[in-house]
Amino acid sequence: MKELFDFIKASPTSYHAVENIRQRLLALGYTELYESEAWQLEDGRGYFTVRAGSAVIAFRMKSSAKAFMITASHTDSPAFKVKISEEKEGNYLRLPTEKYGGMIMYSWLDRPLSVAGRVAVRTEDGISARLVNIDSDLLTIPSIAIHFNRGVNDGYKFNPAKDTVPLMSAGAKRGTLRSVIADKTGVASSDIIDHDLFVYARDIPRLVGSEEDLILSPRLDDLAAVFSAFTAFTESRPSLSSVPVFAAFDNEEVGSATVGGADSTFLTDVLERIAGSREEFMKMTPSSFVLSVDNAHALHPNAPELSDGDNAPTLGGGIVIKYNSNKRYATDGVSAAVFKTLCERAGVKTQSYYNRADMPGGSTLGAILNTQFATPTLDIGIPELAMHSAVETAHRNDVEGMTRALKTFYETSLSVCGGDVKIQ
Ligand SMILES: [Zn+2]
Repeated sequence: MKELFDFIKASPTSYHAVENIRQRLLALGYTELYESEAWQLEDGRGYFTVRAGSAVIAFRMKSSAKAFMITASHTDSPAFKVKISEEKEGNYLRLPTEKYGGMIMYSWLDRPLSVAGRVAVRTEDGISARLVNIDSDLLTIPSIAIHFNRGVNDGYKFNPAKDTVPLMSAGAKRGTLRSVIADKTGVASSDIIDHDLFVYARDIPRLVGSEEDLILSPRLDDLAAVFSAFTAFTESRPSLSSVPVFAAFDNEEVGSATVGGADSTFLTDVLERIAGSREEFMKMTPSSFVLSVDNAHALHPNAPELSDGDNAPTLGGGIVIKYNSNKRYATDGVSAAVFKTLCERAGVKTQSYYNRADMPGGSTLGAILNTQFATPTLDIGIPELAMHSAVETAHRNDVEGMTRALKTFYETSLSVCGGDVKIQ
C-alpha cells in the first residue's frame, strides 16, 4: 500500500496527479508527445501526452495491432476551489472559495487543510503555468459551536457561501495566500497573474482496523483507480494484437465536459493518431475494449437499507461491476461476461452493483465514452464507503485485486465479430 499512499500524498490536485504520472513515465523511458506537433510513432516504444495539465493518455505502440485495450479513470476529486479575489484582511483572514463537485461538506470541517494547484506566472516572454503545493497545515474550517447551533445533530444545511469558508489566520503576519505562495515558490507575488488553486485535506493515507485491512485516505475516488490502472499499464506484458492505453481524465466530478474531461475529443484524437487514419481507427474500435474504473458504493454497515438487497458489494469482496438499466453505467451482458472471464483468469473476485430500484445513483466515465466510438465498455470500481467525504474508506485487498485484474486486461487481446468475442 505504500506506493498507493505515496501517490495520493503527492497528488493533492489533478495537476499534481498528472505530473506524478508524467515523471514516472519519463523515468520508465516513455516519450512525451505534444498535441500541437506531428507524431512519429515507433513500434515497441511507449508514449504519452498531457492535455490541459490535468489529463494524460499513455500507450505503447504496436503498428500491427487490431484493437485498443483502454482503461479510463479520473484525476480530480471534490474540493473547494480558491477564488481569484484577495482574502479580506482583518482580525480573521479567510480564503474565498467555491465548491468544486459534490462533496460531503461537513467532512471538511475541523481538520487541517492546505492549498495546491497551479499558478500562472509572468515570464520575460509571456506566461508560465507552475505547480504549487503549500504543503503545510494552512487552513481550517471551524464548526459552529453546538451552543449556537443546537439543532446541528438533527440535520443542518451547509451553505458554501458562508459555512465552509476556510480560516487562514487570526492576525496574519505573513499576508495573504498570494504572499504565502510567493514565499513557497520564490516567484514575486506581483508576477502571479492568476491561478487554479484548490483546498485539500491534509490527512495522511493510512491502514486502520484490527486487521489493518481498511484504507482511510483522502481522494481514494478516484486516485486509487488511477494508481491501479497505471501500475497495471506499466507492468503488463505486451498482448498479441492490441495497443494498451491508459487514460486519466480531469473534471469527472463536474460532468466531464471540459477540454481535459472524458466528454472531450482527447481520447478519440489520440486513438486516431495511433491508428494512423480515421478508417483504421473505425476498424479497430469494435474489437477494442474500454474499462471505466471509478470507485463504487459498498454496503454501509450502519445503513444497509440504502443498498440494493441482492446486489450490495462489501469492502474486500472484490471488484464491483456496475449495472444500470437506464445506462448511467455502460455495462452490458457481453462486456460484463468478458471482464468476469478475465477476472477468473487473474484469480480476482467480482461483485455486482445496482442502485436500489427506487433511488437514483451517480454516473461516471463509461457512458460518456460510449457515445464517442463503437467500443464495448464496462463500468467497474473498487467498493468504498463515504464516497466524496474529505476522507474515504476502502479495502486493501480490493486495490490489489484491481491492479491484478487490470494487468490481465492489458495482456489480453479480443477479437469481436457479431456476438462472438474471442479472448486471447
Ligand atoms: Zn469517481
